[in-house]
Order: sequence, then structure tokens, then C-alpha cells
Amino acid sequence: MECTIRADRLLSGKAVVATIGHIAVGAAIARGFAESHEPRGRRLRRMLIAAMVATLPDADLALRALGVPSGDQPLAHRGGSHSVLIGPGVAVMAWLVGARPQDGVCYGLSAMSHGLLDTLSQSERGVALAWPLSRRRFTSPYQPVLARALPEPALQRRPWAHVIMRELIVFAPAIAIAAWPGPRGPFGSR
Ligand SMILES: [Zn+2]
Repeated sequence: MECTIRADRLLSGKAVVATIGHIAVGAAIARGFAESHEPRGRRLRRMLIAAMVATLPDADLALRALGVPSGDQPLAHRGGSHSVLIGPGVAVMAWLVGARPQDGVCYGLSAMSHGLLDTLSQSERGVALAWPLSRRRFTSPYQPVLARALPEPALQRRPWAHVIMRELIVFAPAIAIAAWPGPRGPFGSR
């Protein structure tokens, strides 16, 4: 197996989307778990971890660079790592490393959000939301999030500015919740 990292293999001819939406939705989910009187540092750390966890499933792109071909197999992009069933696994792992129960739930929901959001973007094969129960790939009938590049001629490469601008528009509500001032943001006091 070829182990050389190939950036061109990573990006060429496949759907590549920005990750603004994943970061924003992860941070917005964390706002829902904030408490009025908790230290600001803990609240910000929860938002940062949730945003990171929400983007983590795309680490499977590194496998593509290592030679894993695109397709419907679990290791291919938007395969097993994008299943909603990783949510409970992430929550359990968070608890095992000492996270509070509610924080574990927050991180689990953030992980689950990734695959669901990806169904809103153009893609060559959809998302394996139910893996390992099913290898079926799902896409939303409405796909407002643009991809940087797809193999279909009708969907040629777009400038990054278009891709990023569309994400900023589609995920404006999540960005607003994440950036809302105050300990609990738009969710009020608790
Ligand atoms: Zn993804």
C-alpha cells in the first residue's frame, strides 16, 4: 500500500467543502449546555472542544490521501466516521476521560451533527448515516451547501470564495447563536 501523502489525490475531482458550518454548529450546540454561573473558561473550552469534535469526522480525508479510494466502503470519505452512531461513542469516551455527563452529551451531539449537516452538501456518494447498521448513503433532497469540486461536468470547480460565502449564509443562525453575547447566549438564564 502506498503511504505517501498526496495532496492532489486528496483534493482532485471529489467533493471538498469548507468546515465553517461544522464549527459553527458544534459551538452553537455547546451554547445550549452553558450555565449562567459557570466559569467563562469552562464555557469557552466546551465550545472549542464541541467545534473540534464536530469537524473530526472529516479526518477520513487523510485516509484518501493514503490510498483509500472513494466509494461506498466504510473507510471512504463520508463513510463510517460520518454515522450518527458515533455520537453515543463520543459521549462515552468523553465520560471515560473525565468529562461531566452533560458535557459528554454535548460532544456526542456535536459529533452526530457532522454527518447530518453533510447530507445538506453536494457530494458524489452521500453520507453513511446509519453505518454499521446499513451502508446506505443518504443525501438531503435540498443541498444548499456548495462543494469545491465534484466529478460531474455540471458541477465544476468553484472559487473558494463562493463556497465559503454560501456556508456563511446557510449557517448564519448557528454562527449567531455561537457568537451571541452573555453566558447563555440566546437560550436565556439557567
Ligand atoms: Zn464530512
